[in-house]
Amino acid sequence: MSSLAVLHASQLITLAGPPRARSGKELGELGIIHDGGLFSADGKITHVGKTPEIKKFCQRDTEVIDARGCVVLPGFVDAHTHLVFAGNRLEDFESRARGETYQQTAKRGGGIKTTVRATRAATENDLFALAKKRAGWFLQNGTTTVEAKSGYGLTLEDELKILRVIRRVGAETPLETVPTFLGAHAFPPEFGENHGGYISLIIDKMLPAIEQEKLAEYCDIFCEQNYFDVDDSRRVLTTAKQHGLKLRMHVDQLTNGGGAKMAADLGAVTADHLEQTDADGISALAKRGVQPVLLPGSVYALGSKKYPAARQMIDAGLAVVLATDFNPGSSPSASIPMMLSLAVTQMRMSPTEAITAATINAAASLGRIESIGSLEAGKLANLVIYDCDDFRELAYWFGVSLVRDVFVRGKRT
Ligand SMILES: [Zn+2]
Repeated sequence: MSSLAVLHASQLITLAGPPRARSGKELGELGIIHDGGLFSADGKITHVGKTPEIKKFCQRDTEVIDARGCVVLPGFVDAHTHLVFAGNRLEDFESRARGETYQQTAKRGGGIKTTVRATRAATENDLFALAKKRAGWFLQNGTTTVEAKSGYGLTLEDELKILRVIRRVGAETPLETVPTFLGAHAFPPEFGENHGGYISLIIDKMLPAIEQEKLAEYCDIFCEQNYFDVDDSRRVLTTAKQHGLKLRMHVDQLTNGGGAKMAADLGAVTADHLEQTDADGISALAKRGVQPVLLPGSVYALGSKKYPAARQMIDAGLAVVLATDFNPGSSPSASIPMMLSLAVTQMRMSPTEAITAATINAAASLGRIESIGSLEAGKLANLVIYDCDDFRELAYWFGVSLVRDVFVRGKRT
């Protein structure tokens, strides 16, 4: 039996509490233990407490980590990423600096089309090599689980290829992946104006193939003006449910198209982005307990000023989640600590609320509340040791990685 003990943490941030997403005042409860420690055996946490209690469990072959002067947290859970793609969007990045908007970029054939071309041309092994490198970036920034979406293939074969790569990253690297099918990310150019044709391909071919190969847990859609409208979303997502998939949705990012209400109507687990969502949208989410996934990295990287209304959402009782939206176009960042900084400085969340949103609430949104998102007996020993002695420093020192050690299932990565 392999065992690990972490001792003497200045602050052991447990996030211990009821096994459900946290809302309202609960977002402010981190369950901090000073001079904290934990013990894990065979990859699972068995005890959490003060250092003297934990020391009692140490045996001769236990790996003992001295976390004096350090903060220890559960590994971050990033509930919204586009992990697998080829190429980059450096041209768009530079044109945006010259004043081009996201929509203008798309019109001149840049944007997502660039990434779709590169991703289609890449083999499964090419994509795996790229994704493996990025898995390292997530781990180095303290993230141990990511949700990962397809959506840069837009043909049956290429979407399946991406989902297989997502599965391989989970199996062959320390980063755990939760797969989401996002075939409805954009209309592929070869379909021209035949949008109905592509919707039929998703419904008749892609969804059944994904169910058969068990390649996804969730289905997502980019519900936005000039992309997939409310009717398309209803058709795709209703069918996805029949194939056993749970729902997440990209809504109200660039325009308020009533996406938040639709996510509530369809019983989606999460509604993501929500930059343009108004009070009606927020109350619709609250009524149905849909978790908002806020993605400040994409607002920042697009040079926009309109962040989602996190404070109103928290006041309305929503169990807010924070994620990176890691993708080549609008949020090329694998850093949750950067998102914590944006949450505090731009969205007026407290450091405590931001950390809760990127750990236990994110785990709940991925159906993983029993195994990750907090440091409690019975959960996986996924934990990160930071070289600072106050958890607020994670959000404060932006652009600086304070990560010292990362453990996944009790093993150093
Ligand atoms: Zn996204």
